[in-house]
Amino acid sequence: MYSSKKLVVIGGGAAGFFCAVNAARLNPTLKVILLEKSSKVLSKVKVSGGGRCNVTHSCFDIPELIKRYPRGQNFLKKSFHWFNTRHTIQWFEERGVPLKTEEDGRVFPVTDDAQTIIHCLLKEADKYNVEVRIHADVKQITKVENGFELETTNHKLQTDFLCIACGGFPKSTQFDWLKQLGHSIKEPVPSLFTFNIPNNAITSLMGVSVERATVKIQSTKLTETGPLLITHWGFSGPAILKLSAWGARELAEKNYMFTIVINWLEDYNEQILRDAWISLRNQFAGQKIGNRNPFNLPNRLWLYLLEQSEINADLRWAELLAKQQNKLIQMLTAQVFQVKGKTTFKEEFVTCGGIKLFEINANTMESKIIPNLFFAGEIMDVDAVTGGFNFQNAWTTGFIAATNIAGLSAKTDTTA
Ligand SMILES: Cc1cc2nc3c(=O)[nH]c(=O)nc-3n(C[C@H](O)[C@H](O)[C@H](O)COP(=O)(O)OP(=O)(O)OC[C@H]3O[C@@H](n4cnc5c(N)ncnc54)[C@H](O)[C@@H]3O)c2cc1C
Repeated sequence: MYSSKKLVVIGGGAAGFFCAVNAARLNPTLKVILLEKSSKVLSKVKVSGGGRCNVTHSCFDIPELIKRYPRGQNFLKKSFHWFNTRHTIQWFEERGVPLKTEEDGRVFPVTDDAQTIIHCLLKEADKYNVEVRIHADVKQITKVENGFELETTNHKLQTDFLCIACGGFPKSTQFDWLKQLGHSIKEPVPSLFTFNIPNNAITSLMGVSVERATVKIQSTKLTETGPLLITHWGFSGPAILKLSAWGARELAEKNYMFTIVINWLEDYNEQILRDAWISLRNQFAGQKIGNRNPFNLPNRLWLYLLEQSEINADLRWAELLAKQQNKLIQMLTAQVFQVKGKTTFKEEFVTCGGIKLFEINANTMESKIIPNLFFAGEIMDVDAVTGGFNFQNAWTTGFIAATNIAGLSAKTDTTA
């Protein structure tokens, strides 16, 4: 049996590799070539999860899983039916990569080393004869009869099937070569960033974190509760990253200038705290307020909030003036900060936007515009919050594209 059918995958990241190795395995007669523009494949996998690679998340319920994707929920609802978190874990474990789940649900290789994932994917590529070409920057794709002609920096090649898995691009002009295929692009904006609060005394508390704070973005519906970290430039931590993901487009429109309101307390809002205040005051009446923080807040934060409320830490609870008390209640439950700019999160950042999803079949990853053209990974308008969900999108869409390309190419095999 001989097949002249060829698949070219553009992009040597998680999605491209997953598509290439699975297509080659599922149809051994298919010639698979993977083109990577840089000198290294799987470079994001290498640095992912702080070098440990957060492969996926132990969330096995599809309706629950899709809630982690600010963009692409309806699309992935169908795709996860074919390949989801459970399949990812099984796929890697069957190939000798045991995984472990951390308390917060994130899944990592037991080695705590991203290189284990890279090694596994490279071994599969070798086993199924995937030809990996680096320094192959695809500049142009032309649809020709029965396939595609690709132009890279230094050569031309033809292919029957094409999978575009070249990741997200920060600027919309970087999508021009794909627009020429007739696909439309949802304007890219960054997701997963932290908030800058320049020239604010709070940054002197860098390194301090609160387990469950609530952060609201004024004049929007955006609000998140979760761990909040004070950094030397502003705020970070899961609550902020989630806000940045859900608000990626809205915050870009505001040019990253907006007001946030923080409730530092888990168990109180402003009214509940006002109601509880007299009993707190009576309970700690004779104690110095600086030494008696009843809210389990980090001590440095407590002292900072007292200072912001113009309260001397040596004052006793019973000596608090009504004005000081009001100010402290407000600082604790509704402290206001002006955000001026963003910083890209060093651990994980993604692009919101990309190829519009209604132009792609969620069950096959095939373009609805051009037959035999497939997409996988972040190039599509899909992105998630942190926790392994972005890689899950890459594995899912890469695998589905592979399965369908393998099936189609086997059907159209030319047998010599
Ligand atoms: C620092 C960092 C850490 C992260 N950690 C995690 C994590 O732990 N867990 C998680 O789920 N997600 C994580 N992410 C997000 C995750 O890495 C991405 O969502 C995922 O890599 C997307 O995979 P992809 O294959 O679609 O794109 P990419 O990984 O970006 O790969 C695309 C590849 O295509 C190549 N390419 C682009 N254009 C061309 C072209 N014209 N011709 C040829 N090649 C081209 C690029 O060079 C690149 O190698 C992290 C992201 C970053 C930046």
